[in-house]
Amino acid sequence: MAIKIEDYYTPETFDKFKQFADTKETPFLVLDTSIVAEAYDELSEHFPFAGIYYAVKANPAPEILTLLRDRGSNFDIASRYELDKVLALGVSPDRVSYGNTIKKSNDIRYFYDKGVRMFATDSEPDLRNIARAAPGSKVYVRILTEGTLTADWPLSRKFGCQTDMAMDLIILARDLGLNPYGISFHVGSQQRDIGAWDAAIAKVKVIFERLKEEDNIELKMINLGGGFPARYITKTNSLATYAEEIKRFLEEDFGDDMPEIILEPGRSLISNAGILVSEVVLISRKARTALNRWVYTDVGKFSGLIETLDEAIKFPVFTDKKGEFEDCIIAGPTCDSADIMYENYMYPLPLNLAIGDRLYWFSTGAYTTTYSAVEFNGFPPLQAYYI
Ligand SMILES: *Cc1c(COP(=O)(O)O)cnc(C)c1O
Repeated sequence: MAIKIEDYYTPETFDKFKQFADTKETPFLVLDTSIVAEAYDELSEHFPFAGIYYAVKANPAPEILTLLRDRGSNFDIASRYELDKVLALGVSPDRVSYGNTIKKSNDIRYFYDKGVRMFATDSEPDLRNIARAAPGSKVYVRILTEGTLTADWPLSRKFGCQTDMAMDLIILARDLGLNPYGISFHVGSQQRDIGAWDAAIAKVKVIFERLKEEDNIELKMINLGGGFPARYITKTNSLATYAEEIKRFLEEDFGDDMPEIILEPGRSLISNAGILVSEVVLISRKARTALNRWVYTDVGKFSGLIETLDEAIKFPVFTDKKGEFEDCIIAGPTCDSADIMYENYMYPLPLNLAIGDRLYWFSTGAYTTTYSAVEFNGFPPLQAYYI
């Protein structure tokens, strides 16, 4: 099926993108920050009881960070470099959580010296480092979750620990003089199965209850992570449905005794706000009788589209050429065979698509600019404009 603008943007919004894009040479990302603002407001309306910690890695552009700062967002940060960026914009350190479970002792100390007092962990060595380098801080333990099959970009195997270990770590945190604050999880990015939160919240409930009964520890917070959807080709439920369901899971498990709730959205806040604009470099067939054409564009895996690895994220690719469509293979411009975006999932593109025509990659605001290589084959990093 050909991509239709109205499934992703209003005609006015797309016109605004296009008017700007027409003045620039490809390839580039153009991102409309007002869409980020809307997404943030929508999320806060649906989760009025939750603290929002923007996952900075999704897109750390100062235009986005300042907008979210001014709307009252907090920040989930993974490195001292991200921390410097956010603090330089005047965000106070009590709005920052160090969410990376893989960190050097020196980095923990760096965060502590800057005033950060909330740390994620999922292992004993890391927890001991936190106790030494950030004494007395709040810690929350990340648990493993299921749902890797229904998340388009899973995040839950490398991070987290099993329930029993999470309880051991919470007890150890108390014994080391830290403030054992809560439990976190991430059900996987672009999680299409809302039930993944149900299973995770149920695990958290067990941890809360057992620690209270057996060890007299009262945890105060649940961090529900990211995973909320952006609009790609594979459809998802609306954010309203996610919110309704997740609220129901929380109420079923915690009732009136609701702990503090934290969300860490990245993709869902930013993706839809960006369109990557590219140009067709070459169109070819590999044999006289070949059934499918190869369409090579001036963007690829090394210029921001790394989430096409294993064709995990299927970005909507739009062209304003009309006419008969044929399934195509889409590949990037570099001299690397890995630089093929879609080969198994074939995109229908018009037969009259020509070299020099533009392709618009919708919903590419998140996880693109920073994933772009510095100069593979001499191509410069992905240019980005914030309008
Ligand atoms: C990347 C990340 C997020 C953001 O996830 P999305 O699915 O993009 O919303 C949230 N929390 C942590 C710890 C992360 O690493």
